[in-house]
Amino acid sequence: MVVFNGKMCLKLIEADDLRATQHSTRYFPQNPSTAYLSPYISIDIDDLPLGRTHTKERTTTPTYNEEFSSDVHNGQQLHFTIFHDAALPPDEYVADCTVKFENIHDKKSDIWIDLEPVGRIHIAIELQGQFSNSVSNERHFKQNKRAFAQRRFAVVRRVYEINGHKFMATFFRQPTFCSICSEFIWGIFRTQGYQCQVCTCVIHKRCKASVVTTCPGIRTCFEV
Ligand SMILES: [Zn+2]
Ligand SMILES: [Zn+2]
Repeated sequence: MVVFNGKMCLKLIEADDLRATQHSTRYFPQNPSTAYLSPYISIDIDDLPLGRTHTKERTTTPTYNEEFSSDVHNGQQLHFTIFHDAALPPDEYVADCTVKFENIHDKKSDIWIDLEPVGRIHIAIELQGQFSNSVSNERHFKQNKRAFAQRRFAVVRRVYEINGHKFMATFFRQPTFCSICSEFIWGIFRTQGYQCQVCTCVIHKRCKASVVTTCPGIRTCFEV
């Protein structure tokens, strides 16, 4: 794995063709209108939050033009997640993408990146520093820990990508069936499992490694 050390200047310019997932329109199944989206973009370097843009109200083609700069220590990848700014938390997942530093060939790039399951974002990025082969995990971990302490109030809502599914930790008020092992997902007060933000299937944390199905994807969801 190639890592980057140095300074990064990142500009989030705009996003295009955003669409609400079936999951995020579950309260309005009769009208999964795209006008429902009020999107913002959350940025992580590896598992550390870097920041987020402001929310743009009711648009599927938001323009941000917001800049972020950061020192990067052994950075492997950038992760962009689009959320819908919901009236009641938690904010709804819309789409995401990952870009490896090693794939940003030019020190100064202006690029469009495809989002999954649908949409794309436009960013400008400038890197000043060096690429090198990965250091040991231990050193990486220590530096991550230090950076984590500095940003301990920020929380990354992680998206686990498995065969196109976009699983996020979700609480359920009612017992829910796991689509892998068919057993209940339940707890004493609130139950936690992983729900795909695209096809809405629900699984146990422990069943994550057993997912073999491919996510049917957003287009199929809307045709059903
Ligand atoms: Zn899925
Ligand atoms: Zn299960």
